Amino acid sequence: MEADPASAVIPRRPVITDLTSNVVVSKAKAWIRNCQSSHPNCPRAKIQRLPSRVVDVGTESKSPSVRVHTVAAQQCGEYICLSYCWGGPQAITATQNTLQELQNGIPVENLGQTIQDAIEVTRQLGFRYLWVDALCIIQDDDKDKEREIHNMASIYKNATITIAASTSTNSYEGFLRRKRTPPLGPKCHLPIELPDGKVGKVSLVSSRHHYPNHPLDSRAWAYQEFLLSTRVLVYSDVELLWECESQRQVPVRESFVSYEDNSPRRRLQELRRRVRRNEDRMYWNWHLIVNYYARRAMTDPEDRLNAIAGVAEVVGQLLNDEYMFGIWKSSAVDFLGWSTWSPTRRSPRAPSWSWASVDSPVGFSDYKPLAKVLACPPRPGDARGLVLMGKVRSKLPRGLSGSFRLDAEVEECERKRRRYLLLGDLGHNTGATALILMQVGQNRYRRIGCIDRIAIDLWHDCAEREITLE
Ligand SMILES: [Zn+2]
Repeated sequence: MEADPASAVIPRRPVITDLTSNVVVSKAKAWIRNCQSSHPNCPRAKIQRLPSRVVDVGTESKSPSVRVHTVAAQQCGEYICLSYCWGGPQAITATQNTLQELQNGIPVENLGQTIQDAIEVTRQLGFRYLWVDALCIIQDDDKDKEREIHNMASIYKNATITIAASTSTNSYEGFLRRKRTPPLGPKCHLPIELPDGKVGKVSLVSSRHHYPNHPLDSRAWAYQEFLLSTRVLVYSDVELLWECESQRQVPVRESFVSYEDNSPRRRLQELRRRVRRNEDRMYWNWHLIVNYYARRAMTDPEDRLNAIAGVAEVVGQLLNDEYMFGIWKSSAVDFLGWSTWSPTRRSPRAPSWSWASVDSPVGFSDYKPLAKVLACPPRPGDARGLVLMGKVRSKLPRGLSGSFRLDAEVEECERKRRRYLLLGDLGHNTGATALILMQVGQNRYRRIGCIDRIAIDLWHDCAEREITLE
């Protein structure tokens, strides 16, 4: 193709679907070099502190084993992170029993194919260390897990690059040598006369906008892994893609396939921009981050706050705000008007006023707050109660219009204890957002649902009073 005279004037080339080829590996190395040396919004090449443990892939490209390396305090180096779907139990994980053995050395062939592929890429790119959660976090040690989840933001941010095993549904499938087919349109070949008189050949292919549908893109943990990483190599269903803080998703070379850039990092970039310009709607970006995140699936729903804790840490520093159960203290009322359209289970992992207390996707209403926050948790003797000043009604007339959504299955007998808190004005005479509460004590309530577009006048004769949501 390169030898064809037409290649001098036609920049586009066929898609390279062999992701182990020299062209692809050289391009990946060039992307990293270029990003580290000249991208305006990307960090320069810098040796970072290594995470607590890394997989040492050695210096021999064909070495049959790797080992888990426990990092001495302050040891620095460059490393790669892996973002992948677990998809069930792993071949080998770090546990209190296996750690010593893993430190002595593991045959590469005993690991799942996805991990094996990541080791191969790490070696190809000339790196020595790889971070893989299954091997670098002691899976049966709650303290270790908690500490590493807390370190997640810096683990992904400080990695030189993150490998996204986007197409694999589990750790056994691998991502490097799967069959990749470019989305092809009708194709024909035509001779073309060039300015210098030579005749070349061009292929006509209808250009395609491709919307990848990768298994990894639907996993909750992967959301923050993408969002926090400085650079990502996406092993997509078609070809290798690159994205970083300065560059939207691009393929190895320009072809007839173009990509929708729907990367989670755009929402964090937008938030940074708004903070820089001191715009009033910067908190709305957190609504969007949660909205996209909460649609994703997770193996253990109890990880709902954990799998976004790294992003919350970064956003907390940006907003200079305090985080409580998934929402921000200084804008708390803005985040109470969430609702779910597929109610499932409610979990005690978060207070009922937090979106993190349900397992399902959530959306947020956009209103001007009418209730006010008086005190936030934790307070002495009350770790989760949010104290509000607002108007509460005890009953609603029958046949009202509005969009009523319950958070989870609610017992019929609880109807008698229902109350309604006016939360905010939706503006443009479209009504109000209100919370459906259940009384659980003297001025104490639990949230059980949300109403949108309900007549605001229903609360006009109610006096404001102090209540606690738990
Ligand atoms: Zn860059």
